[in-house]
Amino acid sequence: MKIKCLICDSTIESKHTHNFVTCRCDNCYIDGGKEYLHFGGKDFSKILIIFDDGIEILASDDRNYKKKYEEWKENKYKIRLNDKKD
Ligand SMILES: [Zn+2]
Repeated sequence: MKIKCLICDSTIESKHTHNFVTCRCDNCYIDGGKEYLHFGGKDFSKILIIFDDGIEILASDDRNYKKKYEEWKENKYKIRLNDKKD
């Protein structure tokens, strides 16, 4: 999961759970690595969330990104269940 700041045009990614990354202009930050999505910032209409499958949703569109995030979490859980079988 990545986020892109539409103000300074930088794409940032948290590499692991406690890897806190801010964009160049400090409008937004991301944290949580690959375990969960934690992000925030000043202007949500200028933050684009980029999901692992390439879907991009504005952070201000919280109904859609939350729905997409639930899907992502569910997929991750399924993948984990598969891992355990091996
Ligand atoms: Zn920025």
